[in-house]
Amino acid sequence: MFERITSRREFFGDIAALTILGSGCSAVSLKSNPPQMSSTLQEQPVPPLTETHVHTDCAHRAESIHLRANEFNIPAFQGKTVEEIRSIITLPANKAITPARTPEEAMGKWDEWYSCLKETRKAYTSPKVIALLIRDVVEDSANSGVGLVELRLSLLSTVDTLLNNLGIKDATPEVFWKYAVEVFDALIEALQDTPVPTDLIMSISCQNRYKPKVADLIQFCRDYRKHLIGLDLTNEKDNPASAYAPEIERARGDIKFLTIHCMELMGPDRGWDALTLNPDRIGHGIRAIEDPKLVEELARRGIPLEMCVNSNVVTGAVIGGIDQHPMPKLYDAGVKLVVGSDGCNDGSTLADNYRLIKKSFGFTPEQMQELRENSFRYAFRNLKAK
Ligand SMILES: [Zn+2]
Repeated sequence: MFERITSRREFFGDIAALTILGSGCSAVSLKSNPPQMSSTLQEQPVPPLTETHVHTDCAHRAESIHLRANEFNIPAFQGKTVEEIRSIITLPANKAITPARTPEEAMGKWDEWYSCLKETRKAYTSPKVIALLIRDVVEDSANSGVGLVELRLSLLSTVDTLLNNLGIKDATPEVFWKYAVEVFDALIEALQDTPVPTDLIMSISCQNRYKPKVADLIQFCRDYRKHLIGLDLTNEKDNPASAYAPEIERARGDIKFLTIHCMELMGPDRGWDALTLNPDRIGHGIRAIEDPKLVEELARRGIPLEMCVNSNVVTGAVIGGIDQHPMPKLYDAGVKLVVGSDGCNDGSTLADNYRLIKKSFGFTPEQMQELRENSFRYAFRNLKAK
């Protein structure tokens, strides 16, 4: 965790505008300044805009890659203009927001999005470059008005990518973890002095290909526990979260908080399964809407779902586009909701997600404020361990 704390007090009437009318920085713990509810919306101090769900490797911008490509001679991008890089790592805006109408189109959208991610990762050519690119993600977030960032690192795929880019094939565990340590150490150093408070979450992929490495990753997380605020189980397709119950159990004494990607692509069964691990939040959870009993249970337990609405359209997770997104229904059912950007290589920001929510679902200023309050309140640094 990176302990440079700022206190930002913003006043706003319409959260869609995300207008910061007043801000200031002082060395005051956010924890000691919980959001205050007040009767007058216009005069009410609101907590920092809180990014609850963003992946380090999905949120790189063309400007950042352009800068680092020229600084570090990254072959895939060196000599290219920002716009050329953007066209390689980003889906064209009109394509990104075109809704998937069928499951087949949805799969096509996911593949298109993923191919952009693969192109982006060609920039991962050394631990230092990776660390600086991730630091740029925090800078970009801060520049777009975010005041508190929870950043998810998929260390296994990041190191895999690095080894691949370096031409190292069939790395032994010793070589793999040597690079993992170098990447993580470089990242800790790069995040020493971030413009806004930044907490790291380790993403643990549930993909079959990473299963043999998960026990070592858990040990790694325990060794680096003072730099990690939480764990995230991700890539729900191959295995349910409960397949990792013993590993999560082992780590949770050291790393208190857990979020689980589920029901982004898979059905409500994965939600019931995730609940067996007693998560503090759930990533996406949009297909919970298919099971009213599960929705009821999520509301009863007060487990927040991390809504990343723009991403759900870009990746095709929601078929039929934003109008078919279940967020308003989940809200009406009393499920706690927080907001994240996910990072989907399309240049969108967290503020863009708030705007899309406001525009698409017609939430009132009070409801928009509630989302913002919840995002801060359920940030891991503001939660008490269960
Ligand atoms: Zn995600």
